[in-house]
Amino acid sequence: MRLILLGPPGGGKGTQARLLSEKYKIPQISTGDILREAVKKSTDLGRKAKEYMDKGGLVPDEVVIGIIEDRIHDADCSKGFILDGFPRTVRQAESLGKKLEELDLTIDAVLDLRVDFEEIIKRLSGRRACGECGKGYHIESEPPPKEGICGQCGGRLIQRDDDKSETVKKRLEVYQEKTAPLKDYYQRTGILKTQEGKGDIQSIFRNVCRLIENL
Ligand code: AMP
Repeated sequence: MRLILLGPPGGGKGTQARLLSEKYKIPQISTGDILREAVKKSTDLGRKAKEYMDKGGLVPDEVVIGIIEDRIHDADCSKGFILDGFPRTVRQAESLGKKLEELDLTIDAVLDLRVDFEEIIKRLSGRRACGECGKGYHIESEPPPKEGICGQCGGRLIQRDDDKSETVKKRLEVYQEKTAPLKDYYQRTGILKTQEGKGDIQSIFRNVCRLIENL
């Protein structure tokens, strides 16, 4: 099964992709995670990507397309994958389509998680992650047992630079301009499924699974 998760930043794509990956035993491929890892390790890719990410902009299409084209050839993708945060522009979607066609593969569904911008700003500004193990928290809806400290490993919680309020605003503008048009793009191919992304994580997940099982 090959899926794409669409939706605004902070819309819950990462959370739903992780749950789907566990349930269906196929990898979650998050370009955001791959890029953040590269930034952390200060590789050539990371240094190049950081300037765009810090400003809330998109990393150039050629860069992320290259990442995905390499990644989908890995052995763990043979039974499928979940793309989380890719494609983000029509050009990325077209390249992906072409690549999959060459490999004689198709996308089964594109899942659009709908969340309004007000809710997103609330979510992203309260989002924290452990600097050691990466576990995610939210200062209001999922606080750690002790403020600022990871309940899992005791690491210090940090806020992503791009979750700070000015950058969030920019990311939402970029989403609206560059990524939202993908809804129409995939609607035309008949594989777009829409799911309300506001509410309890587990009930959203149940609905998402139902959509997938009805494919
Ligand atoms: P995310 O964690 O998916 O919100 O991604 C964090 C940041 O990584 C984005 O704000 C972009 O700067 C960059 N990024 C992730 N995926 C893509 C993509 N498909 N195209 C361009 N930039 C991306």
